[in-house]
Amino acid sequence: MKHFDVIVIGGGHAGTEAAAASARRGAQTLLITIKVDAIGTMSCNPAIGGLGKGHLVREVDALDGIMGRAADLAGIQFRLLNRKKGPAVQGPRLQADRHLYRAAVQRMLGMQHNLTTLQGEVTSLTFAGGAVSGVVLADGSTVSARAVVLTAGTFLNGRVHVGDKSWSAGRMGEAASQILAHQLDEICPHRGRLKTGTPPRLNGRTIDWSQLELQTGDENPVFLSFQSVETAARQVSCGITHTNAATHDIVRANLSRSAMYGGHIEGVGPRYCPSIEDKVVRFSEKESHQIFLEPESVSDDVIYPNGISTSLPADAQESYVRTIRGLEAVEILQPGYAIEYDFFDPRFLTGGLQSLGQSGLFFAGQINGTTGYEEAAAQGLIAGANAAAVALDIEGVSLSRSNSYIGVMIDDLMTFGVTEPYRMFTSRAEFRLSVRADNADQRLTPIGRAVNLLSASRWEAYARKTAEISAAVASLKAEQASSRELKSKGFVLAADGPNRSHFELLSMATTPLDLIAKENSVFAGLSDSLQQQVAIEARYSQYLGRELAEAAKFQSEEAVSLAAVRFDCVGGLSAEVRKKLMLHRPATLAEAKRIEGMTPSAVLILIAAARGRSKRAVAG
Ligand code: FAD
Repeated sequence: MKHFDVIVIGGGHAGTEAAAASARRGAQTLLITIKVDAIGTMSCNPAIGGLGKGHLVREVDALDGIMGRAADLAGIQFRLLNRKKGPAVQGPRLQADRHLYRAAVQRMLGMQHNLTTLQGEVTSLTFAGGAVSGVVLADGSTVSARAVVLTAGTFLNGRVHVGDKSWSAGRMGEAASQILAHQLDEICPHRGRLKTGTPPRLNGRTIDWSQLELQTGDENPVFLSFQSVETAARQVSCGITHTNAATHDIVRANLSRSAMYGGHIEGVGPRYCPSIEDKVVRFSEKESHQIFLEPESVSDDVIYPNGISTSLPADAQESYVRTIRGLEAVEILQPGYAIEYDFFDPRFLTGGLQSLGQSGLFFAGQINGTTGYEEAAAQGLIAGANAAAVALDIEGVSLSRSNSYIGVMIDDLMTFGVTEPYRMFTSRAEFRLSVRADNADQRLTPIGRAVNLLSASRWEAYARKTAEISAAVASLKAEQASSRELKSKGFVLAADGPNRSHFELLSMATTPLDLIAKENSVFAGLSDSLQQQVAIEARYSQYLGRELAEAAKFQSEEAVSLAAVRFDCVGGLSAEVRKKLMLHRPATLAEAKRIEGMTPSAVLILIAAARGRSKRAVAG
């Protein structure tokens, strides 16, 4: 029998990050996946990043993950979303060539030390002494490991639906993972069903592009990785068109034939990514919905019509699509479909994504009830890093709501569980001013370094960048001039105001960066992107005080461990609060405070219990 420190099951977005992170920490890691050449497949939209999601990718990148670098290499259109709003809620996003993306991910995994890839289907997990001990593959072979990360995506009991036809599949054209799902049913009873959908794929050569508005990318691309400096692929435009009354009539007339509306699917779908059936029913007052026609690659003609995912029968899809301007003669290459699949209640996981019930078993990605490549990748990285910790007996890695969107997501999942597919939004994060996409490396790269999650080159690049920023900030703070003098040089100020430092000037949104550069040679010596970075920091510095104080209070509550508290023995708690505590098993006071119905008096009782004043309630 072969032995590895860590086994990762699945080569999707969670699995690839998990395997790479585990290997980066020094664990001998085996990635097992059903089809090796499908590693890094984008199952749905050919885009990465966006609002909230861009933050996650930047954080994965700050911890030396794969997604940001691979996406930049495959990027065929870059757009910074919410450009007109503040940097705290801006979202870097790009459309990726799905072939180039897959190739980039596979290349990066191929170059990763300590990582082996194996094609095969895992049919069961093995256990010894109350902990996971390895896996069995469909060909009967076995591999042992001290930790296993499960990232099976939509494959567990996956079922594809097109109209009233449905069949077992992990996604279109790939078999579902049934046998493993059966075993997991028995060992992880906290299971549910979710669903998601995808639009038909169109032949771009049959679209009349001359009728459509075209959208280009940003002139100056904003990359997802801190390490990228230029685009690698040919840049393309996408088309914009709209549904109309005729489209909606056809959708409405066929609703009873839709898998989602015809009662064929029990799972709950993503509210924020509605199908065209959902849009027509829920927003019946709207006469039209926007569709982006996004090229999936620069090497083929496949077009992804973003905005019309569907589970109508193929003939109805063809009828409604052909009512849309520019698509009158379009050929459908693959019909849209819905898929429903098993997920496991993430409230039964630790902050490192380890199962509370099965020691050494980690869960990441879609199987934790999330949706999206970025959410999956971020969980994968944390699960892989912690699986390596278990296998090698080294320090674990957990992030907080106060330092990352990854921390927000994992905390939301653990605390509240999911009732619908969970996706990231900036509104989920409470420390938005300090936890921004632009400063993800400053927040997380030092943490990655401390737990041996980074390559040497990543750390060196970060250290160089930080030194340049620090020198510029010091110089900007040191250089001062009178308001009168500055005004005479073109700065917009009251002439009789106090002396101002260059840093203060930079913090004013009205100050052009080139004016500062003329005055401050250290600032002038920075690259454009570092000048932008320093300007963002100057602008946010005036608003951060209160948020940093709240973050510090939050961190102090996170430091109050409830791990040793036996909630069933703590005196003074109401029966309802006790029940909730025993269900959620919060590891810290901060987690306990977010449980719905937690009262101020219960919090005081927990603090006393944590400090050991209620001896009966403290185990051991
Ligand atoms: P996946 O990317 O699904 O990867 C799972 C991997 O596990 C695969 O490599 C598979 O081969 C492997 N595997 C499974 N079982 C086994 C086994 N027993 N042994 C070995 N390997 C195994 N996201 C959005 O954000 N918006 C959308 O609109 C959207 N629509 C979607 C529509 C469809 C039809 C599908 C399928 C997905 C959609 N998604 C959407 C979700 C997005 O694709 C996933 O969130 C993301 O791919 C999840 O990544 P993952 O790593 O968890 O799983």
